[in-house]
Amino acid sequence: MTKVIIVGGGCFGLSTAYALSLSEEYEVWVFDRQQIPAPDAASTDINKIVRFDYGNDDIYMRLTMEALPYWQQFNKERAEQGEEPLFHQTGVLMMSSNGSYSEFEKRSLKKIREAGYGHVIEELLTPESIIDRFPQFKDGVNNGFNIGYLNKAGGWCNSAEAVKHMYKKCVEQGVHFVAGGDQGTIASLYCPTSAGNVEGIVTGDGKVHVADKVVLALGAWTAGVVDMKDLVVATGQAVVHFQTKGALREQFDKNCPVWCADLSRTGFYGFPVNADGKMKIGTHNSGYLWPREDSVSIPRTQVAFSSDTIPLSALKQLRTFLNKFIPPTVSMDISYCRLCWYCDSIDGDFLVSNHPEYSNLIVATGDSGHGMKFLPNIGFQIRNVIEGISTDYTKKWAWRNLDASETKLDGLRQGSALSRGIIQGPDEEMRLVSADELCAGRASL
Ligand SMILES: Cc1cc2nc3c(=O)[nH]c(=O)nc-3n(C[C@H](O)[C@H](O)[C@H](O)COP(=O)(O)OP(=O)(O)OC[C@H]3O[C@@H](n4cnc5c(N)ncnc54)[C@H](O)[C@@H]3O)c2cc1C
Repeated sequence: MTKVIIVGGGCFGLSTAYALSLSEEYEVWVFDRQQIPAPDAASTDINKIVRFDYGNDDIYMRLTMEALPYWQQFNKERAEQGEEPLFHQTGVLMMSSNGSYSEFEKRSLKKIREAGYGHVIEELLTPESIIDRFPQFKDGVNNGFNIGYLNKAGGWCNSAEAVKHMYKKCVEQGVHFVAGGDQGTIASLYCPTSAGNVEGIVTGDGKVHVADKVVLALGAWTAGVVDMKDLVVATGQAVVHFQTKGALREQFDKNCPVWCADLSRTGFYGFPVNADGKMKIGTHNSGYLWPREDSVSIPRTQVAFSSDTIPLSALKQLRTFLNKFIPPTVSMDISYCRLCWYCDSIDGDFLVSNHPEYSNLIVATGDSGHGMKFLPNIGFQIRNVIEGISTDYTKKWAWRNLDASETKLDGLRQGSALSRGIIQGPDEEMRLVSADELCAGRASL
C-alpha cells in the first residue's frame, strides 16, 4: 500500500484525497492548519461560478463539461441527506459592452458551438432583448452593458457546503484527517536521507509523519511553504456582500442568473441573492500582494487580522462600477468584505506536477482563481500526475520553465493591466479601508 500525505484540505486537496481513496492501493492522509472548511481558504465561500465559457482555453471548457454530471450527482446525494443542492443551474449571463462582444465572449461562443453545446446558448443581441429577459439589469444595459448571451448550462455552487460534502465523502472512504493547530500545519518537508528526497512531512508540533508521497495542495499558501521559482504568486482579490431586502432582493433573486459584466475588460461579476439575502459581487483582475521579508507574497486573511477589509483602490473601483451597473447599491452599506487569495500561476494554467527539486513531492496548485468548479473531478487528474499517467490536462499543467517577466493572466482577465499593488504599502490607495468607509454615506469617497 502506498501512503500519500496531502497537505491542504481545500478544493484541490480534498478532490485528490477522494480520487485516491477509490483505489485500495492507497492509504490517504490529509493535513490542514484549520478545521475543514478552513475559514480563509479560497474554496470557503457562499458561492462560486460554474461556467464553461473559457475563450480559447477549451481544455477547461471540457473539464467543466466533465464536472457537470458530478455536480448533479452531488445534488442527488445532498437530496438523499435532506440537504439543499450544492449546484444551482441558474445560467451565466455573459455581458459585453457597447454593442459588440469582447474577444473572450466571441471565442467562448465559437468553442462551445464547436463542442456541440450550441443549444445551451441564448444570445441577447440587443439592449431590449436583455431587458425583456432580465429586467433587473436595465441600468447596466442602459449604461453600456448592452449585448450578451446566457449560457444555460452554467450557474453557481455553494462552495463552503461543497467542500463539506467532499470532506464527508472522504471520511466515508476512510481518508484520515489531521486538522487544526500545529498538528495539522506543515512546518517542513521531511528529507532525512538527502535534501531532495521527500520521505514525509514535519508538522508544527515537531512530529514527523512518514509517507511514500507528499502532495502540497496549499492554494495561495504554496509559495510560502516551498520554493516555486516564481511560477505562482498569492494575489488577493476583493469580494463584497450587500444585505438585500425589498425590491432589490426580489429582483436579483427570482430568475436571476450569475452575471459577468464584460468581465475580461472590467473584472466584475456577481451572483443572485442567496437564501440569506446576501448579494455577492467580486473582482477578477491582477489582484494585490502581501510580500513577506523574502518578497514572497503570502495570504493576509481575517483569521490573523480579524478587522481587515479591502484596499481603498478596490472599494473605489467597485463603487464606481456598481453606480452604473446596480445603482440601488449606492445607498447601501457593504455588509461584508474580504480579500480572497488566488494562487495565481505565471500563465493562468494550473500547476500540477512533480516538483523538479524533490523526489516524491507533487504540487497541486496554481488555481488562478478558477478552480472551484472542478471540485468533483480535478482530483482524478491530480491522481494521474501522482501515478505518472500523461493526459492533455497533465501536460498542460506540468512544471513550466518560465521566468517572472513572462507572467500573463488567464484568458478571462486578458483586458486587465498586470499591475499588483502591495496592500498596506506606502501608496494610500493600497491601505485597507475602515469599517466606516464601507458605509453608504462614504460611497463617493
Ligand atoms: C475571490 C475568489 C473568487 C473565486 N471565484 C471562483 C469562481 O467563481 N469559480 C471557480 O471555479 N473558482 C473560483 N475561485 C477559485 C477557487 O476558489 C480556487 O481555485 C480553489 O479554491 C483552489 O483550491 P485550493 O485547494 O488550491 O486552495 P484553498 O481552497 O485555498 O485550500 C488551501 C488549503 O490549504 C490549507 N493550508 C494553507 N497553509 C497550510 C499549512 N501550512 N499547513 C496545512 N494546511 C495549510 C488552507 O487552510 C486551505 O484549507 C475563486 C477564488 C477567489 C479567491
